[in-house]
Amino acid sequence: MITLQNNDPEVWRAIQAEKERQQNTIDLIAAENICSLAVQEAQGSSMTNKYAEGYARRRWYAGCGNVDTVEELAIARAKQIFGAEHVNVQPHAGSQANMAVCFTVLKPGDRILGMDLSHGGHLTHGFKKNFSGTMYEIAQYGVKKDTGYIDYDEVRSIAVKTKPKMIIAGASAYPRVLDFPRFRKIADEVGALFMADIAHIAGLVAGGAHPSPVPYADFTTSTTHKTLRGPRGGMIMCKSKYAKQIDSMVFPGIQGGPFMHAIAAKAVAFKEAMTDEFKQCQHQTVKNARAMAQEFVKMGYTIVSGGTDNHLFLIDLRSKKITGKEAQLALERADIILNRNTIPYDEAGASANEPNGIRIGTPTITSRGIKEAEAIKIAECIDKVLSQPNDNKTKESVQKIVKDICSAHPLY
Ligand SMILES: *Cc1c(COP(=O)(O)O)cnc(C)c1O
Repeated sequence: MITLQNNDPEVWRAIQAEKERQQNTIDLIAAENICSLAVQEAQGSSMTNKYAEGYARRRWYAGCGNVDTVEELAIARAKQIFGAEHVNVQPHAGSQANMAVCFTVLKPGDRILGMDLSHGGHLTHGFKKNFSGTMYEIAQYGVKKDTGYIDYDEVRSIAVKTKPKMIIAGASAYPRVLDFPRFRKIADEVGALFMADIAHIAGLVAGGAHPSPVPYADFTTSTTHKTLRGPRGGMIMCKSKYAKQIDSMVFPGIQGGPFMHAIAAKAVAFKEAMTDEFKQCQHQTVKNARAMAQEFVKMGYTIVSGGTDNHLFLIDLRSKKITGKEAQLALERADIILNRNTIPYDEAGASANEPNGIRIGTPTITSRGIKEAEAIKIAECIDKVLSQPNDNKTKESVQKIVKDICSAHPLY
């Protein structure tokens, strides 16, 4: 980045510092990952200069031959990975993918049934300050209080009662397998459309570590930057009969020119997602999450639903003398990066800003080659910090372990 260094040292320094931060800290944010240098090179390429409103071979601008090539590659590869009938790789992010589906099939005032945000759902599934919550009537399902699992009989009875136009399956903080065939059945019973949002688990699905919704869902939306390990972005998969409508809702419905540099990077990430190395990494991600969750149970922590089937789990800190925010800050001081999170049925008075849980995800540590033994070591480090959040000696001893693990596992 020699040109950047010369021309804009302030930005260059921040980017260098961010690179070092990523290398020298343990990242347990479940929504993050480390994409390859090849993906980053594509994303940092001159394709960012190109306007390409429209779709490959039918653009509004001249000079689109090369960007057509990468968009066609991205679509063909995504179809191969997920077995989708139709793919749109233009959504700028996961939220735009969900917005495009909603705008395609719903009218303002229609009802959607999605998972409660405080039980693990996403903002775009009906949060009151999100477009989904302001434009549509919202019905919500959650997890069972005693098990932490989605209760499909309850989902069904809410669906029967509220007659939604669309049911959304998918979450940002649900540690268990989603039963897509069951959601399809419920949707059919009440005459609803079915959208699966695999933003978090797309990599697991691609790698065979979580069942795929694609055969069952009318629409499957995703981000490309979470477990899928691509550039920051979104995508939509759907049945052929919705292809035209979805495409014209993404452009010109809600977006202008697509980010062709990001689409090039998506194509690269999709090629990587077809390798055996990627598939093994996805299975290892689940193994690491399971090993850590088990270790926390052994150390006396309460884990929502008792464990995990995927890349993340939630620690309920209510039995510990620490809030989610205090835990997040104390761990950050020790170079362990994660986020506070609501837990289902959090105490009254606990807000989204002051929740009683933390969310732990293993995509990034697994991408850098960490396996169960070191994942367990990291869990022990977290326990040390949470037991002595303000003790400097504890912090320093954890920082040393973090440093050793990080230098043994360079990001690239
Ligand atoms: C992250 C996420 C999204 C949206 O992602 P952005 O790219 O941040 O807009 C949508 N749905 C779910 C379930 C998510 O976890």
